Amino acid sequence: MSNKTKNVYVFGASRTDGDATMKNLLGGKGANLAEMCRLGIVVPPGLTISTEVCTVYTEHGQDAVAKLIEAEVRESVAFIEKEMGKKFGDSSDPLLLSVRSGSRASMPGMMDTILNLGLNDEAVAGLAIKANNERFAWDSYRRFIQMYGDVVMGLKPVSKEEHDPFEVVIDMLKEKKGVELDTDLTTDDLKELVQRFKGLIRARIGREFPTDPWEQLWGSVMAVFQSWNNDRAKVYRELNDIPDAWGTAVNVQAMVFGNLGDKSGTGVAFTRDAGTGEDLFNGEFLINAQGEDVVAGTRTPQQITLEGSRRWAQLAMVSEEDRRNRFPSLEELMPDIYRQLLEAETKLENHYKDMQDVEFTIQEGRLWMLQTRSGKRTGAAMVRIAMEMLRQGMIDEKEALRRVGPDRLNELLHPVFDPAAIKKARSIAHGLPASPGAATGQIVFFADEAEEWVRKGKAVILVRQETSPEDLRGMSVATGILTARGGMTSHAAVVARGMGKCCISGAGAVRVDYHARTMSVGGETYKEGDWISLDGSTGDVFEGQVPTKEAELTGDFGALMELTDKYKRLGIRANADTPDDAKVARTFGAKGIGLCRTEHMFFEGDRIKAVREMILSEDETGRRKALAKLLPMQRGDFEGLFREMSGLAVTIRLLDPPLHEFVPHDEANQKIMAHEMNVPLGVIKMRVDDLHEFNPMMGHRGCRLGITYPEITEMQTRAIIEAALNMKAKGIDVKAEIMVPLVGTVREFNAQARVIRKTADAVFAERGEKIDYMVGTMIETPRAALIADSIGQQAEFFSFGTNDLTQMAMGFSRDDAGKFLPSYLKDGMYERDPFESIDQKGVGLLVQMAVEKGRTARPGIKLGVCGEHGGDPASIGFFHRTGLDYVSCSPFRVPIARLAAAQAALDEGS
Ligand code: ADP
Ligand code: MG
Ligand code: MG
Repeated sequence: MSNKTKNVYVFGASRTDGDATMKNLLGGKGANLAEMCRLGIVVPPGLTISTEVCTVYTEHGQDAVAKLIEAEVRESVAFIEKEMGKKFGDSSDPLLLSVRSGSRASMPGMMDTILNLGLNDEAVAGLAIKANNERFAWDSYRRFIQMYGDVVMGLKPVSKEEHDPFEVVIDMLKEKKGVELDTDLTTDDLKELVQRFKGLIRARIGREFPTDPWEQLWGSVMAVFQSWNNDRAKVYRELNDIPDAWGTAVNVQAMVFGNLGDKSGTGVAFTRDAGTGEDLFNGEFLINAQGEDVVAGTRTPQQITLEGSRRWAQLAMVSEEDRRNRFPSLEELMPDIYRQLLEAETKLENHYKDMQDVEFTIQEGRLWMLQTRSGKRTGAAMVRIAMEMLRQGMIDEKEALRRVGPDRLNELLHPVFDPAAIKKARSIAHGLPASPGAATGQIVFFADEAEEWVRKGKAVILVRQETSPEDLRGMSVATGILTARGGMTSHAAVVARGMGKCCISGAGAVRVDYHARTMSVGGETYKEGDWISLDGSTGDVFEGQVPTKEAELTGDFGALMELTDKYKRLGIRANADTPDDAKVARTFGAKGIGLCRTEHMFFEGDRIKAVREMILSEDETGRRKALAKLLPMQRGDFEGLFREMSGLAVTIRLLDPPLHEFVPHDEANQKIMAHEMNVPLGVIKMRVDDLHEFNPMMGHRGCRLGITYPEITEMQTRAIIEAALNMKAKGIDVKAEIMVPLVGTVREFNAQARVIRKTADAVFAERGEKIDYMVGTMIETPRAALIADSIGQQAEFFSFGTNDLTQMAMGFSRDDAGKFLPSYLKDGMYERDPFESIDQKGVGLLVQMAVEKGRTARPGIKLGVCGEHGGDPASIGFFHRTGLDYVSCSPFRVPIARLAAAQAALDEGS
């Protein structure tokens, strides 16, 4: 540890050390505070202790930190004193400070901020005289004790049913005084609160509240470093893939006061709508309030713009008169401040070229900015903001494509409520449309119980008075979130939008009773487990389960998708087994079917009987008889697929799964089977026993079925070719690709290809006409990848079955990996689940090798992927780099794959 390295950076009007590029060192908050100062925006001066010091804290403890940075901190505090013209620790006109955490990635609400630091019994008196406002001084003092007592001294609720102990004390006093709001408490009440808080700390912690400002400061700085490792910070990092090693910076900043009376206030704002993406400046504020008051949702916040205020009033069912008198917008109330704020937000958005989420405080008619960052937003807002900024000339096409996280498109593909069903649904409450989406689930009141219920396979709506960071995990598993309190910028709203989760906040008419586990509204009571539905786009809460319908690719979403086609090189196909799936895939932009699993067709309706008859037959004659029954059904299926995919390729895989998957294993069904086939039960039982395999995934399946029972391949080929000819006759452009599964040797492929071609020729001869088709293979055994050159001489295309390839290369099956894989992932044995995202360093090499060998054997050979990995953005990047022609994924992942493919192409260019 060298004393020469700089650990502390100051920002202010006269000097700023850092800038926005220094996020790794100063954290997002610190870097952006510095950048704002550089832009000439009014920010309270402060200092930032770098993230590197957090690592020193974790490794060497607090004494090492104190020794390392003490001199720098003292110098920097002197800088703040000079800028503010006040002294830290002075008792007649004290400089007060805030201590704020801030890591590289924004972690909203993860680590607590301490405000009004530097107060004690003497300083509070000085502050009162200086501000000529005794109430303000004592309000600031009680807040400081409350925050410091919680964050640094650790006075927190001990059980989930218990409320915050400080809030309990406040509520008791309010009740005694017969008042409702914090702002109704008198100076004497606040003085009493301070005494009670100190007493509470003494009783529960066994220590006195520290009176020395420097002791307070160091205590807070260390607490921020400590909080990097608290549970909720860890949970957030885990959910958002943030490495533990990044550490947090600490910002120490001069206080400005929003609680100085009616000309003061505090608020948060977004340069665009974080829920819908609309280009509308919006936000909320509270008069005579400080810090987290707005987000905490204890008072109803007011809107910043007049437009926003009117919209809010309509949703909250507040009359225009009431709105103007009781909840006027900042635009109406303080036009001058509003204009300054508008100027600052415009400057910031133009500078960062992205939607900003800002915090501000108004102190007696003066505006101070306290934070700016790229705002969290829903998937829908992500798309709209990117496309609008593109049209507005703020960003270019490539940047617009980069702005949207492929996985976030999931939210736009979710079903929406069926408008017809909505008309009939019974609306029971109304709140703010905090985060769009349609959610239906059973009511639960506690986050940990939400997790339990979801683990049992239930869909839940988490209903809370308000949420806090402790609820994060429960929120992430719930289908929707409903809170009785809080505005559009409440914790629930911000976090839900970040997760893309449907959320309604501030449904004021809803009464939540945690003890009784009920929610009552409009004279009716709903219990834990009752079904409700939330429309996050309108704020409507409905009774029961409201039916939903599929989403569509329109507007900005459609435009973004078109843009992907301009930049991506990979083709995107879909895995689809039915005409309906094919239709969905096509509307989402799939350019063909990469995998049709024919066995899925075997389960429908009466077919399974014919399939079983075929499997349980003793000889070829019996099998052929049963297969003849299946032929017309399969042909019909293929006709439907070809019709939907006219002009596009359809890859059809021959029968793949082990036969025992089709037979009944319980006696009741075996009896029915015996009866239908007119054989004794014993015969059926024996045949089922015969089919038993110790390791079915490595057993009699794939092309091994077609090789032992060529009549199955014959029937399937006939169904495909006849369907193709029938559709061709109707003017449909059929491009059939017949695919042989699980090949390991060239002879296997050749044997099957021979049956296919012979059958096709027979059909052509019968019908007196022909059609082009291709015969190719899956590459899904490691051996196939190793000998891909000799297979490539025979096969016209390869499709990588990366699910099987992964399980065979890894040596564990997807069905059994659940026993150890979760703990493997937690311990970092694998970075990611290899069945979710392809193991690029291992299994990926097999793909790369097969691609090279295949192309050498047959230049121009068509190469694709049809495993689950075809819909995973990281894997898509890998397949792009490996030079495949296309990936195929489930219909609902097609838009995600299109965007990921475009981003992969852009990454290559950069
Ligand atoms: P978070 O990261 O959870 O948003 P912040 O550090 O931004 O926490 O602070 C919490 C609240 O306190 C915010 O509303 C912020 O604007 C306010 N705040 C922080 N520092 C100051 C300060 N120096 N003066 C006034 N308000 C402050
Ligand atoms: Mg903040
Ligand atoms: Mg397979």
